Amino acid sequence: MITLKERVIVLTSYERKSLIRFLTLYLGSVFVLLAIIGYLFFENNRTAMKSAMKFEMMYQGRMLSSKIVMKAMKDKALDETEKINFLASLKHCRFNVGYFDKEKEPIYTEIGDVSRFDTDFYVKDNCCYTVIEDPSDHLGVHYVVLKENELVDTFRQLRIKIIGYLILSFLLMGVVGYFLGRLFLRPVREQIESLDQFISDTTHELNTPISAILMTIQSLKGIDEKKKKRLEASAKRLHVMYSSLTYRLEGQEEKIELLPFDKIVEERVGYIKELIDSKRLHLTMELEPMPVRMSRSSAERLVDNLLSNAVKYCDIGDEIRVILKEREFRVEDTGIGIDAHMQEDIFKRYKRANSERGGFGIGLNIVLSICKKYKIKLNLESEKGVGSTFILTFPKAK
Ligand code: ADP
Repeated sequence: MITLKERVIVLTSYERKSLIRFLTLYLGSVFVLLAIIGYLFFENNRTAMKSAMKFEMMYQGRMLSSKIVMKAMKDKALDETEKINFLASLKHCRFNVGYFDKEKEPIYTEIGDVSRFDTDFYVKDNCCYTVIEDPSDHLGVHYVVLKENELVDTFRQLRIKIIGYLILSFLLMGVVGYFLGRLFLRPVREQIESLDQFISDTTHELNTPISAILMTIQSLKGIDEKKKKRLEASAKRLHVMYSSLTYRLEGQEEKIELLPFDKIVEERVGYIKELIDSKRLHLTMELEPMPVRMSRSSAERLVDNLLSNAVKYCDIGDEIRVILKEREFRVEDTGIGIDAHMQEDIFKRYKRANSERGGFGIGLNIVLSICKKYKIKLNLESEKGVGSTFILTFPKAK
């Protein structure tokens, strides 16, 4: 069973679909492009920052090392405490420092864990280390080690900045894309509007001849009753089509009133009786009184469209059941049925699942829009070759 909800199936549904497709494709590619640019930019900066950091740490390390050499030359007989005090006061940079002897034992250190002494620069646990080796062991110092903790934070800030800029550019491109899409779609909209105008103009021209035919049929005398009924059936079918077309195109303000829906169903079934008879359809009705608050033309359009479709898509001798019970209106037929994959699409404007039997593909779209307007739940159960049931569930009367 298929339930139709708030899916927008109005004039602009095709435009919206195209716009969404265009935007998805456009923003998708923009996103990939921006992500690549952002990644490359980040990597590039990271490498540059890392080498700048290495350069600065090596420079500071060498400075410390040379200060130790100078001190060792100047004060030859320093005791252990003086040496440590000197080493502790030596640092004038933002890095943590450690001084180690030949056996890699700390003489004075602000760094807890130095795992490698065999390379001049390495990164471990998001920290940078620089090792300066002094083979002449001045003041007993063989290795000067520097440690840096802030590089990771700097990388994080850079990453956040880049992501921020990327999001901003993405939003900007999104806005540009939206307006571009609207611009491309304008000719399509103009086409739709001119098609609508054409249908509207043509439809208005149909009113007078259809009314004239219907009135003339009533006054015809002395002709075969069967032929008269067939004529009347065709004229009424034309009139139902005409009413749907004008209802769709005019969109006038409607007077909402409390209506006996069961009576309207009875009336509309009576109106197309000739059509039903001409196809020798078996019609059964079970109508329970049901007041509804809606405009008369909307109620008539609902009933007319569902009924005339049931008649149209039934074959000679098929059955139609019209049931109105517990605020549920069902139109069941044993007609040709609808392919499962088409069941949602047939509610779109101008969409048809059948090309053998005439029509414009607007009847069900009208039904859907009326249902949306009056908060009526619309369900369809159908099986190809078996039949269809359209179910309208009306909201509880207030
Ligand atoms: P139209 O009948 O003019 O084509 P509608 O909007 O009323 O337009 O219906 C859309 C399509 O839904 C029809 O073309 C038909 O394929 C299918 N359809 C509607 N009602 C029925 C039904 N009772 N049985 C089978 N198919 C139906």
